[in-house]
Amino acid sequence: MGYRAQEAYTVCMVTAVWGTTTRADGDWQLDTLSEARILEALQSQAPTNAVWLEEQLHGKNVVSVGRNDHGPVGKGDGLVTDSLGTVMTVRTADCVPLFLISELAAGLVHAGFEGVRKGILKATLGTLEEQHGINPASVRIHLGPHICDACFELRDEWLEGAQGDDKLAPFLKPRRRKYFFSLAEALIAEAEAAGARVESTSKTCTKHDDTHFSHRGGDGEARQLSYLMLRDA
Ligand SMILES: [Zn+2]
Repeated sequence: MGYRAQEAYTVCMVTAVWGTTTRADGDWQLDTLSEARILEALQSQAPTNAVWLEEQLHGKNVVSVGRNDHGPVGKGDGLVTDSLGTVMTVRTADCVPLFLISELAAGLVHAGFEGVRKGILKATLGTLEEQHGINPASVRIHLGPHICDACFELRDEWLEGAQGDDKLAPFLKPRRRKYFFSLAEALIAEAEAAGARVESTSKTCTKHDDTHFSHRGGDGEARQLSYLMLRDA
């Protein structure tokens, strides 16, 4: 199992291990998941347990997890933990996997257009602050591979709402009588509005690059897995 996108860095006494699988790592859609499969893939990092959202709702519900949680842990689009060794995971195909990392706790988010509109990033930062005392200014945020603003054409049913929404309208990209949208720019603005900062943004587009699965690119239900775990440095 190759995790070429994997990154790791150390903040104080804690190391964050995080990344996103590629097409070559196989399909990680919901009915293929097991805790054993995830733990095996990350075995070199000595994880203790692994969790996922049993349904991703394109909303702003955030689920807190710990070392006693295993497998599906509820419905929503954000996970947070302060437990070392707990692997959080989300599945994406064109939506943005968001990695929120601090030395005391971490969050992992699935964010598409609806999640951006509803404020899933702000909600997850809020949960980190309320439950773990994490100041948003101390959170490092990374945006993983997602559909780029040249490929992400807004559906008609989203367009009218976006044009009338001060939070979304600046990130519409009109082109040849169509409207595209920058998920990354909207999330960077949402982070800044919450007092946090996006430290890096993947330049890989799930649709026009062929390294990742893309729902709009014709990959159906296939998904990559994004994962984030804190462990002892
Ligand atoms: Zn693209």
